[in-house]
Amino acid sequence: MSEYLLCTNGLTKQFGHHKAVNHVNLHVKKGVIYGFIGRNGAGKTTFLKMISGLSKPSYGDIELFGCRGAELNAIRSRISCLIETPGLYGNMTAYDNLAIKCKLFGINDPNYMKHILRIVGLSNVGKKKTKHFSLGMKQRLGIGLALVGDPDLLVLDEPINGLDPQGIAEIRDMFLTLQEEENMTIIISSHILEELSKIATHYGIIHNGSLIQELTREELMQRCSERMEIVLDHPKQAVPVLDTMGFTDYQVTDKNTIQIYERLNESADVNMELSKAGILVKSISITSEELENYFLNLTGGAHHA
Ligand code: ATP
Repeated sequence: MSEYLLCTNGLTKQFGHHKAVNHVNLHVKKGVIYGFIGRNGAGKTTFLKMISGLSKPSYGDIELFGCRGAELNAIRSRISCLIETPGLYGNMTAYDNLAIKCKLFGINDPNYMKHILRIVGLSNVGKKKTKHFSLGMKQRLGIGLALVGDPDLLVLDEPINGLDPQGIAEIRDMFLTLQEEENMTIIISSHILEELSKIATHYGIIHNGSLIQELTREELMQRCSERMEIVLDHPKQAVPVLDTMGFTDYQVTDKNTIQIYERLNESADVNMELSKAGILVKSISITSEELENYFLNLTGGAHHA
């Protein structure tokens, strides 16, 4: 059996003479958050519809959970997708929206609905009608609806479009919970690599229907020479703390900034150790201007954006 939960081979979708998805060989391992990145019209939605069973491929194979061809019908219920905006009943609460979906699945247990609301971070919205929700809350409820029935693979088309950084951080936290508690595999598309980079662990880049690159988060970071940027009042005071933490690859780049080029997933620890030492950090971030440039260069330059 393949090491991949999802693997496509030569997957193609043709509309008339136009190949919206052209011979795509994509690989998704179990338990990853796979970021599917491409500009508008690159073929993301068309691809996601095919793997979700909403559209039939013109050519090529899909292998999902080790099943292919007609066997795929038997495992469709293990996949849940949110393609386009979630259909919510605006005059109802989050709980009631969920209850309706649950009923379709024969689930009446209020604890189940509460469990989903907790996962998507909507435990405390009470009687608020969903028409008064923020965009981020609506998206999270949409994802909550997609979770009904406990799928193993979640397919989400542009769920972070238009969200502010706080909204994106909430989605990221939710995905981490889904990975840890439910062992979920998630495929998420976006046309903005910088936003996706805050969430995904693996990436596939699609351009004009063709998959032009697959890479891990580490590979992407290496290629973009990403770094952790810490802004604080007296960088020199932070140096002994970073030394004690074992950092060697970093630089004080100006009177307010330190750049660290290694262990980029440890920003929370760095922040904690600095504050323990009484050093106030104004901001700590993974800078990614170059990340967006990397994507734009691969897909033909910024002037096409
Ligand atoms: P966006 O983010 O804008 O939705 P996308 O990457 O999801 O972009 P798709 O929606 O998959 O792109 O579209 C890929 C190409 O296929 C586009 O050129 C689009 O016009 C075309 N296309 C999609 N669906 C159809 C259809 N049903 N009939 C004809 N052409 C289509």
